[in-house]
Amino acid sequence: MLKGPVSISLRLTVWFGGIFFFGWVLFALVMWQDLKSTLRADRYQTLARRIDRLQDLLAKTQGDSQADRHQIFNDFAHATGNGLAEIFSVDGSRAYPSPSAAASQFPWPSIAAANGERFLHVVSGGQSYWVITRHYSLTGQSLVLLAAAPEAGNLVILQNFWRGLLTSVPILLLISSFGGYWMSRRALKPVDRITLAARSITIGNLSQRLPVSNSGDELQRLAETCNAMLQRLDSAVGQIKRFTADASHELRGPLSFTRTVAEVALRNPNTDIDSRKAFEDIVEESAKAANLLEGMLTLARADSNSVDAVLEPVDLGAVVREACSLARPLAEERNLTLSVSTAPTSPVKVLGDFSSLRRLLWILLDNALKYTPAPGQIDVALGSVSGRATLTVRDSGIGISPSDLPHIFDRFYRADPSRSQVEGNGLGLAIAKWIADLHHADLLVNSAQDEGSAFRVVFPCIDL
Ligand code: ADP
Repeated sequence: MLKGPVSISLRLTVWFGGIFFFGWVLFALVMWQDLKSTLRADRYQTLARRIDRLQDLLAKTQGDSQADRHQIFNDFAHATGNGLAEIFSVDGSRAYPSPSAAASQFPWPSIAAANGERFLHVVSGGQSYWVITRHYSLTGQSLVLLAAAPEAGNLVILQNFWRGLLTSVPILLLISSFGGYWMSRRALKPVDRITLAARSITIGNLSQRLPVSNSGDELQRLAETCNAMLQRLDSAVGQIKRFTADASHELRGPLSFTRTVAEVALRNPNTDIDSRKAFEDIVEESAKAANLLEGMLTLARADSNSVDAVLEPVDLGAVVREACSLARPLAEERNLTLSVSTAPTSPVKVLGDFSSLRRLLWILLDNALKYTPAPGQIDVALGSVSGRATLTVRDSGIGISPSDLPHIFDRFYRADPSRSQVEGNGLGLAIAKWIADLHHADLLVNSAQDEGSAFRVVFPCIDL
C-alpha cells in the first residue's frame, strides 16, 4: 500500500484508520437499516391500533343514527391523525363523508378486491405518508377503513441519526489514528532501543549486547537471537585477533634473525658484490616486513584491549620537539621546509602516554613527508581551542581525493598508489586513530586534492 521508507508506526496507523473507516461504514449501514425498519414497524403499529379503535367505535355505535356515527368518525379522525382517515365501501365510494379537506384530497390508494390489510407508502404534496387499509365487515356491509400518518417524524430521526454518524466520524477517525499511532509507537519502542544499541556495536566492542526485555514477545526473541549471533561473531573475531597477534608475534623472531644474518654478511669484507646486493635487499625488505608486523601486532593488541596505557600529564611541546627532531633531517633531505609553532606561553598539557603520542605525531609527520613533493612545506602547530589542546600537521602535498577521505583510517587502505609512488602498508592512520581514541581525542582531517592536507588531533578538555 505505502511505498518507500515509511515507518511501521505510520503504516499501522493508516491500517487502523482504514479498518476503522470501513468498519464504521458497515456499522452505519446496518444501524440505518435497523432503525428504518424499527421506525416503519412502529408507524405500522400506531396506524393498526388506530384502525382497531375505529373498528371498535363503528361496532359500538351500530345502533346510533347515521349523523351521530358521522360525527363520532369525524371526532376520531381529528383526535388521532389530523383527520387523515376515511371509510370507503368496497366499490370505492365513501361510506362516510371525509372528516377533513386534507382527507378528501389525500391520494388514498385504490381499494383492493382481496380482504385483509395493507401497509403502503404514499407521497402527497411532496411529503411521504404511511397508509394502512383494512377490510371490515359490519352487519353485512363491507367497508374498507383507511388511516394515514406522515413519515416526516421518522425522516427527522433518520436524518439526525446520519448527522450524528457523520459528525462523529472525523473525531473517531482522529482518535483511532492517534490511538493507533501511539500504541504502535509504544509497541515498537524496544525496536528503537535495539536499533540504537545495534548501531553502536562495532568490531571493536563486539562484547556489547542488545537490551532484552522480559516481554516474552517477538521482540524479546529477536534481541536474544541477535545477541546469540553477536556472541558467535565475538568469539570468531576473537579467534582471528588472537591468530593475528600470535602470528605477528611469532614471525618477529625469524624475521629479525634473517635481518641480522644479512647484516652480518654485509659487514663481512669477503662477501662478493652480487651477494652484497641480495643481502641489502633482504635487509630492506625485512625492515618493511618488521614494520608491517609491528603495525599488525599493535592493532591486534589494541583490538584485544591488552594495551595497558597509563595516562599521565604529558607536555605536548616535548612530544612535538622529539618527533620533529627526527623529522627535520628527513625533511631537509627531501627539500621540504618543516616549521613548528607551539603555544608561546604555558606548556600545553594533556593526559596521555608519551611514547604513544610521539608515535601518533610521527605517523602524521611521516605521511606528510611521504606525500609532499619537493619543494614543499610542512607545518606542525600546537595550540588550544576552547580549553582543548590541538595538534595540527599541515602539508602542501598531493592531498586526498574526496572518495578516499572516508576510508583513510581503515586498515590496509591506501589511496591510489600510482599517485604517490610511495611505500607504505596502509596501517599508519589506523594506528594513529587508535592512539587518538585511547586518549579520547578526535583525529580530524581536512584535505584538498593537489593542495595539501591537514590532520588535527583535538584532545579532550582537562584541568591539570
Ligand atoms: P600508508 O602506509 O599508505 O601511508 P596510512 O594509513 O598512513 O598508510 O595512510 C593511508 C592513506 O592515506 C595513504 O595511503 C595515503 O593515500 C593517504 N594519506 C595519508 N596521509 C596523507 C597525506 N598527508 N597526504 C596525502 N595522502 C595521505
